[in-house]
Amino acid sequence: MPEGEQEKSQEGITVKKSENFDEWYTQVIIKGEIADYTPVSGCLAFRPIGYGIWENIQKATDIEFKRVGIQNVYFPLFIPERLLKKEQEHVEGFSPEVAWVTHAGKSELEERLAVRPTSETIMYEVISRWVRSWRDLPLRLNQWNNVVRWEFKHPTPFLRSREFLWNEGHSIFATKEEAEAERDQILGIYKKITEEFLALPGIIGRKTDTEKFAGAEASYSIEHLLPDGKAIQGPDFHFDGQRFSKAFEISFIDRDGTRKHAWQNTWAISTREIGVMIAVHGDDKGAIIPPMVSPIQAVIVPIYTEETKRTVIEACTKIHKMLENYRVKLDEREHLTPGRKFYEWELKGVPLRIEVGMKEVSEGTVVLARRDTGERRKVSQEKIVSEVSYELDQIQKNLYRRAKKFLDENIHIVSDLNIIKKEVKEKGGIFRAGWCGSAECEKKIKEETGAKIINLSLDIAASGKCIYCNKEAVYVANIARSY
Ligand SMILES: [Zn+2]
Repeated sequence: MPEGEQEKSQEGITVKKSENFDEWYTQVIIKGEIADYTPVSGCLAFRPIGYGIWENIQKATDIEFKRVGIQNVYFPLFIPERLLKKEQEHVEGFSPEVAWVTHAGKSELEERLAVRPTSETIMYEVISRWVRSWRDLPLRLNQWNNVVRWEFKHPTPFLRSREFLWNEGHSIFATKEEAEAERDQILGIYKKITEEFLALPGIIGRKTDTEKFAGAEASYSIEHLLPDGKAIQGPDFHFDGQRFSKAFEISFIDRDGTRKHAWQNTWAISTREIGVMIAVHGDDKGAIIPPMVSPIQAVIVPIYTEETKRTVIEACTKIHKMLENYRVKLDEREHLTPGRKFYEWELKGVPLRIEVGMKEVSEGTVVLARRDTGERRKVSQEKIVSEVSYELDQIQKNLYRRAKKFLDENIHIVSDLNIIKKEVKEKGGIFRAGWCGSAECEKKIKEETGAKIINLSLDIAASGKCIYCNKEAVYVANIARSY
């Protein structure tokens, strides 16, 4: 085996995605240089590819938020203990995972400070001063920040991290109707970002009361399906009613002269989506990053000998310049062979490779190689801009199509609990069944199958019987093992 080849086999992905998904996933994240471990367990270092993906998700989402009138703000990382305790359900939901600051230097703080697990309490204490009259509403605010939830479950990069990055949307309305109407707008934005940018399909639905966000009246989620057959919660939206506005006295004088409490919502998309995206699209060679969010959309690899080097590099530089409106890297590293470069960019998930050798230079062509299908196609240099644009678009669409096919094939309509019991362990997937709405049935389903109700479909009318008690079904429940 030549030296380079041996190096390759040790560095590359050593397990098949279909055979050992967990190990494959970790190797793609670490060897693909998307993120790395740090001395703090469960807290990641985002490498340039991983952080670049997040920046692109953030940018795209932020544009959508601003388009509908949402404004960005920033609030402190710390929350005084007395504030965190102000809304009962909220504090009960979070307290097992809260990290506390107790000292400054050697002196103990008079009041412990929580490292924010989410910012409702610190924000609403302050915002209550900003809302006086109906004229101050609606107030639709968002912050891009990090939060800490000190989970004790086994951490998995991006999918389950103690610290993660997200958007925290917080909106305040004068009426319940306005607050409820925001739901479809925000879920629509998240649907667009996940489907059109991350190429990730999902199942939109309402969480059950057992599974909803601590402090919310109702929670809604987009659920994704991972290749191992487990579901994972993506972006979510919470209708908080008046719980926080009553706890934090966010009230206003309405048009009729009476004082009323405001209606509130919260919503988020987090860096977990990066992990879902890598898990869903990647293959045995490594990551495949959808062009819309890839920090490098195409890489130009020059192929030359000592004699042709100058000519080839010149042509590559010209092509690079022609593609200035795309995120393109020209890989000029001299110590690596073209083959080694191909392999490295495949591992790192760059969606399109542009190969340029002396033959292509003399023909006025380049070779385009797709990361998702491995197809190679020769195109004219003159048409490079439209050809690259076309291929990136095809890759983006193909990734979504593949993921959607996988999701659709793994949604099983069932009316017999035994089928879930048997198949959930064998092949996983999402089991769609009738549910009467009782918490007791929900609990039993979870105990007996190991799968839980991840959400309730919004757009499918319930029919038939509850899969557990056989009473009339009120909801269409999506049931799966979940992260
Ligand atoms: Zn039931």
